[in-house]
Amino acid sequence: MLTSVHTIGVVGAGTMGSGVAQVFAHAGFIVRLADTSRPALDRARAAIDASLAKLVDKGKTTIEDRRAALERISMVTSLDSLAGADYVVEAIVEDASAKRALFTTLDALVRPAVILASNTSSIPITAIASLLKHPERVGGMHFFNPVPLMRLVEIIPGLKTAQWVTDAMMALGKRMTREPVLCTDS
Ligand code: NAD
Repeated sequence: MLTSVHTIGVVGAGTMGSGVAQVFAHAGFIVRLADTSRPALDRARAAIDASLAKLVDKGKTTIEDRRAALERISMVTSLDSLAGADYVVEAIVEDASAKRALFTTLDALVRPAVILASNTSSIPITAIASLLKHPERVGGMHFFNPVPLMRLVEIIPGLKTAQWVTDAMMALGKRMTREPVLCTDS
């Protein structure tokens, strides 16, 4: 399943979503970064560009890789652009009803075999997934700020998360050059 993950949808282009988009793109994935706010997307592109430039200055990446990573990210204001994604990470505001509404939309939009991950810091994954048709494909993927520099990522299964989903999230965390650790939902 994991080898078939090429395109990542990231929802929310703030502090965390822009960092998550950058790390996925830098690792070679195609990224669609979605936000309801066009100015937020513009700020995200500038922040990603500046962050990659710093990595070039530090000798941690090349000018070519910086350009290639940027070219792999497209900024979108409509969730419809995520319909063909192979994996989706949510990083919108920390508001339970906003997240539930978004996951309900994503559950109907994205094919059932696609994992829907949340970067929530405090909302239980079980609560985010509870109203969905496919709660088994939802899990937590909790990054730390600033994402490009913080390698740790917590993988958090909810009560209904399928084992294949947890396994795939752990493997994808490694594939995107992070250090995933398994945590409990709370
Ligand atoms: P942020 O406020 O910087 O960005 C949130 C973005 O989501 C904004 O650009 C906003 O326009 C967008 N948004 C809101 N509702 C949306 C919707 N329905 N659809 C699309 N876009 C929408 O927030 P942040 O600090 O990046 O945090 C995002 C998530 O990551 C939260 O759940 C937060 O708890 C978690 N988190 C934050 C940190 C941190 O240090 N900031 C660390 C770990 C986890």
